[in-house]
Order: sequence, then C-alpha cells, then structure tokens
Amino acid sequence: MQRILNFINGEYVAPVSNQYLKGFNPAIGAVYSEVPDSDERDVALAVKAATAAFEVWSNYTQEQRSDILLKIAQGIENRLEEFALAETNDQGKPLWLSKVMDIPRAVSNFKFYATTALSLSGEFHKTDSQIFNYTLRSPIGIVGCISPWNLPLYLFSWKITPALAMGNCVIAKPSEITPMTASMLGEVCNAAGLPKGVLNIIHGLGPKVGSSITAHQDIKAISFTGGTKTGAEISRIAAPMFKKMSLELGGKNPNIIFDDCDFEKTVKISAAAAFTNQGEICLCGSRIFIQDTLYERFKNAFVEEVKKRKVGDPLLDTSRVGAIVSKPHFEKVLSYIALAKEEGGSIILGGGPVEVPGRCKDGWFIEPTIIEGLAYDCRVNREEIFGPVVTLVPFSTEAEALKMANSTQYGLACTIFTENLSKAHRVAAKIESGIVWINCWLERDLRTPFGGVKQSGVGREGGFEALKFFTEEKNVCIKIDS
Ligand code: NDP
Repeated sequence: MQRILNFINGEYVAPVSNQYLKGFNPAIGAVYSEVPDSDERDVALAVKAATAAFEVWSNYTQEQRSDILLKIAQGIENRLEEFALAETNDQGKPLWLSKVMDIPRAVSNFKFYATTALSLSGEFHKTDSQIFNYTLRSPIGIVGCISPWNLPLYLFSWKITPALAMGNCVIAKPSEITPMTASMLGEVCNAAGLPKGVLNIIHGLGPKVGSSITAHQDIKAISFTGGTKTGAEISRIAAPMFKKMSLELGGKNPNIIFDDCDFEKTVKISAAAAFTNQGEICLCGSRIFIQDTLYERFKNAFVEEVKKRKVGDPLLDTSRVGAIVSKPHFEKVLSYIALAKEEGGSIILGGGPVEVPGRCKDGWFIEPTIIEGLAYDCRVNREEIFGPVVTLVPFSTEAEALKMANSTQYGLACTIFTENLSKAHRVAAKIESGIVWINCWLERDLRTPFGGVKQSGVGREGGFEALKFFTEEKNVCIKIDS
C-alpha cells in the first residue's frame, strides 16, 4: 500500500485529520494507495507557507525562475518511465500512452512556460509628444490550481507552470482519484531547487479541499479544469470575492464529416478522436455527424477501424483501450449506454463491460461503443459521457450539420473533415467552439489560445494568455514638461 502525503513548505506531511481515502488502481479494481483526506486546516497551512515564500519567489528574476522550471522539466524527463507507470496505475490508461503523451507533455509544459515567460513584455502607448504610458505586470500572489483525473500530470502541470513562471506561489489540488504523479512532482521540485512553499500540493475531496481553496480569502485567483457543474460551484463562491478565474469545463464535441473528405484519413483520425484515453479527454469527438451520401460507407469502415482498438491490460503494448478511471465513472458510462437504448439508439459495436482475464479480471473496462439511430438533440447527444462511447448521426447539408453541431450547451472543440477549403473555413467560422481542427485532431501548439465557449468555460489558457492571467497589470502614465 502506497501512502501519499501532502506537500507543504517543501516537505511531505500527513493531513491534519490524519485520515486517508482509498486510492484505486482501476485496471485491477482494487485499492493500492492511501490519499490524504485533507480539509481547510491543511489549506491554511499551505497558505501560510506560500505567503512567506512569495516574498522570496516574486523577487527572483525571470531568468532565475525559468532556470528552476527547466530543471524540473529535466527532473521529470529523467524519471519518465517511473512517472508513466505511476500515471497508468492511477488512471487506467495504457502505459505506452502515458509514455508518449502524458509525461512528455508535462515536461513540455514546464519547458514551454519557462521559456515563453522570458519573452513576455509589458506594453507601451505613446499618447502624444508629452504623454506616454507603460504597463507593469506583477504576480498576483497566492493562486489556486484545481485539476481533474483524465490527464493528471499533463493538466496539473499545464496550470501550475504559468503561475510559477510569473512569480506566484501555488496551492494546487489534483483530483483525489489520480493524485500519484502530482505527489511525485514535489520530490522533483525540491531536487530542482524550487524554494520551499512556492508550490504546495494538497490532496483530498473536491467539496472539502477544492472548496477551501476556492473560499480562502488570501488565494486571489483560481485556475480550474473539470466539469461544468463544479465550475459553476466554484464561480458561486469565488465571483462574489472578486477573484480572477479561468475555467476550463466540459465538452460534447462534434466531428463533422463531409462526403468530400479524404476518406481513409478521416476514418483513422475519427477513431483516435473518439477513443484515445478511453474517450476520457475533454477534446474527444463524441458526436460524429456524417453527410448522408457517405454515411453507410463511413459507418462500415469506422466499425472495422474501431474493432482494431483492443481493450486490455494497460501494461501491455498491444492494449489500445485501458480501464475506466473509477467504479462510479464506469457505472455512469454504462448508464448512458442504457439510456441510448431507451432513447431508441442501436448499438452497432460494443455496448458493455469487458472482462480482461488475468490480473485485470476485476478491473473496470468498457468496450468501445458505437451507437446510431439517435436524434441529434436527445440526452445522449447533449450530455457529456466522457467515456468510450460515440454516436453516428447523418446530415444532408452544411446548414444542417452546423445546426446539429451547435445544439448543445457546450462549445469546447470541433473537428471538420473536408477537402473543400472554402467549406472548411465557412464551417470553422460558424461553429460555436473555442477550438476547431480541420482534417486533424489533438494537434496542440502550446502557443495557441485554449478554451471553450458557452458552458465549456471562461477564459483562455495557453501561450501568453495563461501568463497574463497570472499577473496583475498596472498602467503608468507619464506627462513630461514641454
Ligand atoms: P470534476 O469537476 O468532478 O473535478 C475536477 C477537480 O475539481 C477535481 O480535483 C475535483 O476534486 C475538484 N472539485 C470537485 N468538487 C469541487 C468543489 N466543490 N470545489 C472545488 N473543487 C472541486 O471533474 P472530473 O475530475 O470528473 O473531470 C472530468 C471533467 O473535466 C469533464 O467534464 C471534462 O470535460 C472536464 N475537463 C475539461 C477540460 C478542459 O480543458 N476544458 C480538460 C479535461 C477535463 P475530486 O476529484 O476530489 O472530486
């Protein structure tokens, strides 16, 4: 049994309550770790440490801070295999995926913000020959970063790195369901020379630790990634306190396939967009809209392509789909498959749990599931399932595709497949989402703005946007005597 501890003031400490939650390995469906059941007392200790550390960290030069962040990147890279295995045991995703996606991306996040912060400059506005303005940017102070379970270290590091790069001190909470790699990060930070108290990691339940971070009066900004309902709850507490907020929330992303697409490429990318990470990526394309003239051909090829995605032990290289992150989430995904049947859908592939023999026989695995015959605006097509389940819906015209794609409360990402350049641009302009991929999926340039519209979020991460979010701007106006 591995016991995880909080990381406060550069030290690993037990929660004040001395109580622990059960941490599960979803592939074997069994408890394998103990996770601190922290509360507001642990958050208060972290804030105390961060307050002292802020005096030190905010006075480091940009270059000094960047050097330490680069050392952290190197520290993770040096232990890539160990981090990848920990991520897979905690989350259920295939080990090869943790090795090529999650951990390398965490390394890139540190490298990217360490270097990008070096080129963030203030602004200058000349009003006339006597008056000019310049903008000062200073760190906010202590900030809270709350992240979800689907891409644990990837998203945890995506949040904390711009905050640290700009001189803030951080109180961070990973999901209590997948805390292992965030916990290991503390060791790397100490080895890299991050001053004590600059990064504090508190584990525990959202309604206890997350809400204590949100409500703490000395925590001036909240950067949150997670579900839309939780985002609303955080806003309810933080908005009246006038905290800065960046909210990256749920998605129900459309994948629009026109009959003039590059067929082979479209089938392959659509399968990846639907089922990578067991469909547990906020950017997964879970509603596939296909032009009716191509519908049957696409359906048949897509089913064959998805059949190649073998469900299996996440430790095996041959497994393309791993375990669902938790028992409650496993049950939630299955309940949506049952709902699809009630709503008149036909399951054309998958549709239930899979028993993986051997050490994974009690794990939580679900077959990649493809459903057709549902109305575009039924519950299954409006609500986020966040699992290996997609629906196929035919459309006839561009206008109809747009109407269907835009029919949910969400607006995070969209994929469009067509070889017609004008059509691609027209649809991209009219689609209600923060991110549009044309003939590709999950190509992420870290300099680009990342975020959603409607109930998929508020604000943008990525590039200079995230660095600016973690600063306060001050305009200084000077008038010189003539
Ligand atoms: P949740 O909203 O349940 O949880 C996210 C984080 O918030 C967790 O650390 C959670 O802790 C914490 N939390 C829960 N309740 C509160 C609260 N009242 N106050 C403060 N913090 C709280 O999301 P999931 O972890 O289930 O992640 C899945 C969701 O995340 C999906 O909706 C998905 O679309 C979204 N997501 C969005 C992304 C984006 O970039 N837009 C990227 C990835 C995921 P605990 O785990 O202990 O409950």
